[in-house]
Amino acid sequence: MNIYETHCHTSESSACASASGDEQARFYKSRGFTGMIVSDHFLNGNTTAPRDIPWEQRVDILCKGYENAKATGDRIGIAVFFGWEYTVNGSDFLTYGLDKQWLLRHPEVMDLHPNDYFDLVHAEGGYISHAHPFREDWYIDMIRLFPRKCDAVEIINSCRKPFENDMAKTYADSYGLPYTAGSDNHHANQARLSGISTDETIRDITHFIEVLRSGNYEIYDHIYEQ
Ligand SMILES: [Zn+2]
Ligand SMILES: [Zn+2]
Repeated sequence: MNIYETHCHTSESSACASASGDEQARFYKSRGFTGMIVSDHFLNGNTTAPRDIPWEQRVDILCKGYENAKATGDRIGIAVFFGWEYTVNGSDFLTYGLDKQWLLRHPEVMDLHPNDYFDLVHAEGGYISHAHPFREDWYIDMIRLFPRKCDAVEIINSCRKPFENDMAKTYADSYGLPYTAGSDNHHANQARLSGISTDETIRDITHFIEVLRSGNYEIYDHIYEQ
């Protein structure tokens, strides 16, 4: 059985993370994961990239944590894939299937209405899972749901309260949306880790999306001894 992290952060690219891409790759390898998607905060979120530098440099910074994790992953034997966590006024959308070259060509993603962002991602072959849709926090002014625009719902986020995760599952079930789960790990010392497990060995992020669409996976949720 292969276990994949779908949601984690690196200190190179997310301002709230303390673990580098290298540390995250080693951490997931030590926990027996087959692979991981690095999903740092997008350039409209809690990014380490300054707002006032050229777009190319900002994209470079967004991709840095992934690239470092991938370099380590290639050496130690854990698959590392790229994604990001796009933010709309505190609501977060894990975006999979698009790459650095795509970002370099699409600086307009920063200024789109959320519905237009979702449509663009889909038109270009991307996939969106709504991260912790019922998260409650001081900086989130309201709960926003886009049930016709998201491909899946993160029904387990290791960092969220049971009530918030239960609501996410109720939401997904009500609209017939597929599930994802993720750890939202920022520090490479988290005990509870979640993701997906599958008998398929995932080759790349496109294959990951195919697995989600096929339904040939289970939700993974485990508390590790520290
Ligand atoms: Zn964060
Ligand atoms: Zn996150």
